[in-house]
Amino acid sequence: MDATGDVTFSNKVGSSNASPRSNLFNTPQTRMQTRIVYGSLVGLTVLVLALVIALAVVASKKSTGREPSAAAGSDAWNGVWDLPEVDCSYAKDKLERAKCVLDSYPLIDGHNDLSAKYRIYSNTSVYNVSLTSDLRTIWNMSHTDIPRLRAGKLGGQFWACFVPCGSQYKDAVRLSLEQLDIIEKFVRRNPETFTWVTTSQGIIDAFKAGRVASLVGLEGGHSIDSSLGTLRMFYNLGVRYMTITHSCNTPWADNWKMDNESTYNETVDGPKLGGLTEFGEKVILEMNRLGMLIDLSHVANATMEDALRVSKAPVIFSHSSAFSVCNHFRNVQDSVLHLLKENGGVVMVNFYDKYVTCPPMRTSASKLKHVADHIDYIKNLIGVDYVGIGADYDGVPSLPEGLEDVSTYPALFAELVARRWSDLDLQKLAGRNLIRVFRKAEKVRDEMSYMPPFEDMLSEDENSHNKPCRTDLSIWGM
Ligand SMILES: [Zn+2]
Repeated sequence: MDATGDVTFSNKVGSSNASPRSNLFNTPQTRMQTRIVYGSLVGLTVLVLALVIALAVVASKKSTGREPSAAAGSDAWNGVWDLPEVDCSYAKDKLERAKCVLDSYPLIDGHNDLSAKYRIYSNTSVYNVSLTSDLRTIWNMSHTDIPRLRAGKLGGQFWACFVPCGSQYKDAVRLSLEQLDIIEKFVRRNPETFTWVTTSQGIIDAFKAGRVASLVGLEGGHSIDSSLGTLRMFYNLGVRYMTITHSCNTPWADNWKMDNESTYNETVDGPKLGGLTEFGEKVILEMNRLGMLIDLSHVANATMEDALRVSKAPVIFSHSSAFSVCNHFRNVQDSVLHLLKENGGVVMVNFYDKYVTCPPMRTSASKLKHVADHIDYIKNLIGVDYVGIGADYDGVPSLPEGLEDVSTYPALFAELVARRWSDLDLQKLAGRNLIRVFRKAEKVRDEMSYMPPFEDMLSEDENSHNKPCRTDLSIWGM
């Protein structure tokens, strides 16, 4: 072929009147060669583009496979896979697999009352009792210390800032500030273990650094003394959820005791409010505006429904289980679980044995497997995207066999491995669901940032009628 071409080329040059230089680049042979070169270049470009598109499609399919269900919200992870994927298939047994999963994503417990123990057993002193000790040998009863929480692979903790209902209308705000101070003291005293955290990203960052992310939940609306200004100041001090009531009404919200004639005492609890009052709804909206999570553990069913109707952000139950498995009114009824799914929130399952097994539904002593039953029940009813862990350690007097303290979380996860939970589902239970809810609450906060603070006030009559401990505001000339 090359020889034939040379002859033809000579003939064409000879037969043309064009200059040799011009002819050199305009012969049919040259044009053919140019076409071949251009054609090859275009073909190569198309091939590279097709390869790039194919790789992108494969990558997106792989990512979609790990996304939560659409019901959990399309922005559930904000499109970001926040920690590297870990392959736990090497695990030789269920416990090793559970530990691998808890090493891959933070286990965030919704409720721990360690600060109350410092109040009860050491007169609020953190520096007299080291958390690096085995506190079972120091205090009468202890579920939490650093050696045990490391064994339990705890990755994040909402430490409860709790003061008893009896302080309502009296010194609840001061006592709550002191409980918050205790938490901050033990977190700052143990920087090799704890990191003070106030954002969802902070939890991930602390986990990456090998620290237990430490957040604060204010357990009971009575701690703000019906004052939105006080609520805002608690937020500024780091509080990231507030339980709307403890086991007593506030002037603006009913607690769970309202739901049962045997626990409701009108003389003590006052008249039923029917859920949230108008002011109570403002509390919810102000929490949305601040980016503070709304916790519905301890509240009445009607309060749950009102809060779920009003809230613009997903809510949490920081330490409650399933009413259909144990019909204690501290647990969450199916109708509310369905509303929770619509809201995109999370129910963090409580380990207190009285909320785990209830006669007549179950009369045997509580065991680890019964807590797994609550978790499974919620997963099967509304999906794995709405369940978490809120053990209530150091806040309850008795616990199921096998879940005696903070070292036992891996055993619970091993039970769920045995029940064929996937690694991703275990991660969701551990912390992914809570992180999703927290991120959404932060997003709602950003969306409401144009709004000024709510400045609604209850009148002193509404807040504290006939309460002798109140300051007479006429001393301010009011
Ligand atoms: Zn509680």
